[in-house]
Amino acid sequence: MKDPLQRDRSAVLGTFTRFPMAPVRGRGARVWDAQGRAYLDFACGISVTNLGHGHPALIRAIAAQAGRLCHAGNLFVQGPQVDLAEALLEAAPFARKVAFANSGAEANELLIKLARRHGAPRGRGEILAFHGSFHGRTYGALSASGQVKLHRGMEPLLPGFRHAPFNDLAAVERAVGPRTAAILVEPVQGENGVVPAEDAFLEGLRRLADRHGLLLLLDEIQTGLGRTGPLFAHQRLGRRCLPDAMSLAKSLGGGLPLSAVLFGPRASGVLGLGEHGTTMGGNPVACAAGLAQLRLLRAPALQRGARRAAEVLAAGLEGLKARHPALVLEVRGRGLMLGLKLAVESRPVVLECLRRGLVANATAGDVVRLLPPLTLTETEARRGLDILDAVLGRTRPPRGSASDPKKGKRA
Ligand SMILES: *Cc1c(COP(=O)(O)O)cnc(C)c1O
Repeated sequence: MKDPLQRDRSAVLGTFTRFPMAPVRGRGARVWDAQGRAYLDFACGISVTNLGHGHPALIRAIAAQAGRLCHAGNLFVQGPQVDLAEALLEAAPFARKVAFANSGAEANELLIKLARRHGAPRGRGEILAFHGSFHGRTYGALSASGQVKLHRGMEPLLPGFRHAPFNDLAAVERAVGPRTAAILVEPVQGENGVVPAEDAFLEGLRRLADRHGLLLLLDEIQTGLGRTGPLFAHQRLGRRCLPDAMSLAKSLGGGLPLSAVLFGPRASGVLGLGEHGTTMGGNPVACAAGLAQLRLLRAPALQRGARRAAEVLAAGLEGLKARHPALVLEVRGRGLMLGLKLAVESRPVVLECLRRGLVANATAGDVVRLLPPLTLTETEARRGLDILDAVLGRTRPPRGSASDPKKGKRA
């Protein structure tokens, strides 16, 4: 039989840079390829399988609901959808209502609609987003994303977006204008290389939104569901930065496609009957998986374990920075959403990690992004760190850096 990578290349549109490995099976923090080789999974399909692979309670919930009813559609009340909505409202006390969709981009489209309908009576249709942000690949979400490389060749984009520098409150104040309806922000910019918003920045955005009557929209698609420590990243700030609405996706369906928007008091009455819809959004099997996962994620023992794993990993990465100062420029992130900013391209480093049995993700050109499952054990964390250490140990630092052997000769 032909190699699956070759078959993929000839049959599937080539819009992804694929890893030279095709996982076929997973359990906990590990995945296996068809040859039976095991890998530690520190990517979780980009923050999707937050409980690790094949959690028995999740499998049971999916199988039970699939056996009862896979789809009825939104012409009907679908029980698992209501169950998950109630559980989300309990987990995110700022919220009053939930709407479901299938993907992150779709949830953000709903945030864009919400912003425009909120601003329309006052002639405000503009959304302020940030340089470096990523909100998805549909036209609205793409136009909201503050990355020129995603926009190139895709014009005309959707009008009505402005971008301000991230973590620069003064610049945001200057960018708010008479047409601004909302501010859209990620608590940690994931695709941009795991760049956390400073606490004072998020609190400042909240105050600014209040002062100008804007909606504060949080894209917690990557940061949500325990990834950064608390269940939602904004909860780190207690009541100091509650959003008016928040999008969730990635991990929400426990590995099945599912997304949602949670609406706070100022946002829950904006969109009404007939103003939005979806055929598959809130699919009962995906919602049953999401509910089972949410219950597991809220268990104190799991949260303690995730905190411990995050401490071990963050300390270990700082150790790597100390051991490889010419290569590792910065360790950043929150909880189990961590980035290693390198002085060299991160893709070759990540490929070498893969050859040695560790799946990590290269993003923003020079960042190794680590998104391990929240069930990661200390032993697994240390094993991943050892692989990273070995790979960094054989990676050449950039020319001209302190530990470059050629530097002395040139000087
Ligand atoms: C992944 C991601 C999206 C897009 O989600 P899709 O399900 O791929 O459409 C949007 N925002 C953020 C912050 C993301 O990480």
